Amino acid sequence: MTAYLKGTLRTSNEAGGQKPRLQAQRGFWMVSKDNIFVFLLSASPLASYFISRFNQVAGLLAAAAILIFSLTGFALVVRGRNFDLVPFIILVVWALAAIVHSLLLNSFASKPGSEEKKLQASKDLALKLQGELKTLTADFSAVVLDEKKALVLYCAVKLLSEAVDLESAGKQFARYIKDYFETGEFAFYINDPNAPVPGLFAAGEKPELLSWEKISRSAGKGLAELAWPFAIADERIVAAPVRHAGETVGLFTLRSPQSADVFNRDRVMAAAQKFADEVSFAVKRIQLFRQVEWLSQVDGLTGVYRRNALDEKISEEIRRADAFKTTLGFMIVDIDHFKQINDRYGHQFGDFVLKRVGALLRAGVYETDFVGRYGGEEFAVVLPRADFAGVLRKAEAIRSRIEEENFAQGLETVKLTVSTGIAHFPRDGAGARELIASADRALYKAKETGRNKVVDAGSA
Ligand code: GH3
Ligand code: MG
Ligand code: MG
Repeated sequence: MTAYLKGTLRTSNEAGGQKPRLQAQRGFWMVSKDNIFVFLLSASPLASYFISRFNQVAGLLAAAAILIFSLTGFALVVRGRNFDLVPFIILVVWALAAIVHSLLLNSFASKPGSEEKKLQASKDLALKLQGELKTLTADFSAVVLDEKKALVLYCAVKLLSEAVDLESAGKQFARYIKDYFETGEFAFYINDPNAPVPGLFAAGEKPELLSWEKISRSAGKGLAELAWPFAIADERIVAAPVRHAGETVGLFTLRSPQSADVFNRDRVMAAAQKFADEVSFAVKRIQLFRQVEWLSQVDGLTGVYRRNALDEKISEEIRRADAFKTTLGFMIVDIDHFKQINDRYGHQFGDFVLKRVGALLRAGVYETDFVGRYGGEEFAVVLPRADFAGVLRKAEAIRSRIEEENFAQGLETVKLTVSTGIAHFPRDGAGARELIASADRALYKAKETGRNKVVDAGSA
């Protein structure tokens, strides 16, 4: 700029020294060809500064350009152009300062301390923290869920370990399973050594969907052989054997509440197996308890109910028939001249006959009927909801079946007959005792009138 002014002043002096002020002012606006270069150089640091405000790299380039221009100025001065050297020195210093400044800015920009980087880093940190929080929340929920499941499991095992009333224990156990697996569709079977198929101990809403027949058909095996969990994948059903000390004591099966696209067969199978394993020892206890109960109720020789158990059944069924206004049939079946069989073929053969008669009686009535041994060679049958004609028909069928039976003794075939007395509730008695007495009277009548016959108390 000094060079520029100097140049213009020199020009006005050369014009004769008149109105130098005016000429100097006019020269200020009129840029001579030589001074354009100087003018651009003077403005360039400022331009560099503004450019660096928008883009630091561009600012750096601009500062470099200034330096080149300044050095070019130097070169021109050296070549003899009519410029002062000082402004160029200042410009070079300025340009160098601008470059240093720009470099510093750039180096700061490359460090995380710069605003943008800081902002980005903060965003990244926020995202990372958010992710960690999400994981922690999920972990926490999983821990809470695990704790809830552990508690449910503990309660379930405690229940099975202490249960005396197995019916209500089964209902409570079903509630625990529902809580644990968050599904209402499940079935828990316990193997019954005295029955051909396992008994349903606890069930959810639709046990027929998980019937033992269906599950064992899919497994292709009996319960005793089942050692591993399996799945009916297209129905999202899994089944896990309940095993204790190498023995299969039950089967747990459930239908996953998950939709088909998220159903993870292996995971559900593992969860079902884990549950089955955790409760298995308590299930074994239930099985033994049932066995003891069964033994206390069942006659060891014939496999039918003992008298006390049958008396309970009669009273229970009378109460039910009374409440639902239905009927109840009752019969006493007595082997004719049994004493003679004992005397002729011995007690052992007599026992064999009793066993066989018990089996024929059980085979001759519905599963829902109760057969019991009432005395030495006397049996009784409780037939809930049976009508007069139906009971008579059934008693007659049993009588003729036993008459047809060949009881083998060595090479001999022993034949025998039975006499039966029938009574009905409420017709022949309002309570168990009256009903039994009526059936007994009818039996006496059958014996009196020739044996091998059925007599209904209503016609006795
Ligand atoms: P009825 O036609 O009048 O019924 O004559 P019965 O011989 O069948 O009747 P009775 O009451 O005279 O004899 C019943 C016999 O049943 C007497 C008893 O020795 C026999 N008895 C009772 N319990 C058992 C048992 O557990 N095993 C065997 N082998 N015999 C038994
Ligand atoms: Mg007899
Ligand atoms: Mg008798």
